[in-house]
Amino acid sequence: MLEALQSKVNAVAGTVSKQPPICSQCGQPMKRHDSETVHWLARYGRLNAAVERYRCRGCKQKCRPLLDLLGVEPGRISGSLARLLGLLTVVTPYTLAAQLAWQLLGVKISPMGLWNIVQRLGEAAVRHAAALSQYHWDSRSENLSTPDAPPVVAVSVDGSMLGMQVRKQRRRRQNGEALPPLPPLEEGRFQEVKTGVVLLPSERVETSPGRHSVVRRFLVSCLGDAEEIFHHLNAQLRELGWLDTARTVVVVVGDGAEWIWIRAKIFVNRCEILDFWHALEHAWEFAQSCYGEGSQKADRWVHQIAEDLRGGKIEEVIARLKRMHPKSAESREKLESLIRYYSNNATRMHYDEYLRLGYGIGSGAVESAHKQVVHARFRQAGMRWSESGARRLLALRLLLLNGNWALLDRLPMVSVA
Ligand SMILES: [Zn+2]
Repeated sequence: MLEALQSKVNAVAGTVSKQPPICSQCGQPMKRHDSETVHWLARYGRLNAAVERYRCRGCKQKCRPLLDLLGVEPGRISGSLARLLGLLTVVTPYTLAAQLAWQLLGVKISPMGLWNIVQRLGEAAVRHAAALSQYHWDSRSENLSTPDAPPVVAVSVDGSMLGMQVRKQRRRRQNGEALPPLPPLEEGRFQEVKTGVVLLPSERVETSPGRHSVVRRFLVSCLGDAEEIFHHLNAQLRELGWLDTARTVVVVVGDGAEWIWIRAKIFVNRCEILDFWHALEHAWEFAQSCYGEGSQKADRWVHQIAEDLRGGKIEEVIARLKRMHPKSAESREKLESLIRYYSNNATRMHYDEYLRLGYGIGSGAVESAHKQVVHARFRQAGMRWSESGARRLLALRLLLLNGNWALLDRLPMVSVA
């Protein structure tokens, strides 16, 4: 296997053009600088190649086209071995992954070595996702023919906080200048991860009475930016061939957070739905304050609200709420906030209609997806993340959860300083 692999590398080396590469900064052809033999570790042992190095005189840029093409860093683990080790770290923390690597693959590697692999593979995955997102965003106005696009797709998003590392790099003085100011810390030491889910309502199945699950779902995720998550959702729908702008209804299920409805406007043909369980949660809060926590009366009252909302009687419910006069100031405040929440979202609460059309009324799919994408790997005890580290590992984890891990075979690893 090692021999076969080495001769493949040799063949690739032979096809790399002898033309000097173009400097990425100034656009001038680069000059051949030197050549050296480098080694790296692959699944079946050590591989080597004679590598030409080019340099740009003006910009001092250097490059080794063969290594860029192969996605190889001298002395480091690359190729399918890197991908297998990456797979372990996507599922389990670095220290455990290192033990698994030894047990499963007979490879001795430190948690730091695994971290390095995740950065190089993850950066490739991040760049690919960003490029895909940009491509579909730029071409969104083009009327792409997607004859097999389904009539209805459902998307929903959810967010949760990640513990972030405190800045590690020190500020440096340059030529006696004053220290640059520290950048502001974003919301203390936490940053929001957003997860989005794309699925076909028609594929929901009732596994047992009242218990629904979906056959397929596709996930997208990003750190922080609300704009970005919707661009990713758009790209995912396009990639799947699930979006015919003229025909496909995009059902957007949200918890009432305003940023979701604002961003959802990128889908022209859409149906906005307030997550049914969030609607009830607000009713609960008021009922417990008004009728007492755990009281039967609160129970019955919320049950009635649920019935009426399912029946599409949102206007009646709001009218009924407005006629109530709770005794305590706290309850009155809760009632007002409930009325406001329902009034603001009334157009998104025609649950009878959504049920009849088979759109679904809950965001359970995104909440469970979010737990699977984020909580299971990123929110274990004491975990702290750097922004780039979290971004890269997230991109890799999504590939695995979306059944798209094989994509990595086509992405060269990126060397990360
Ligand atoms: Zn240059």
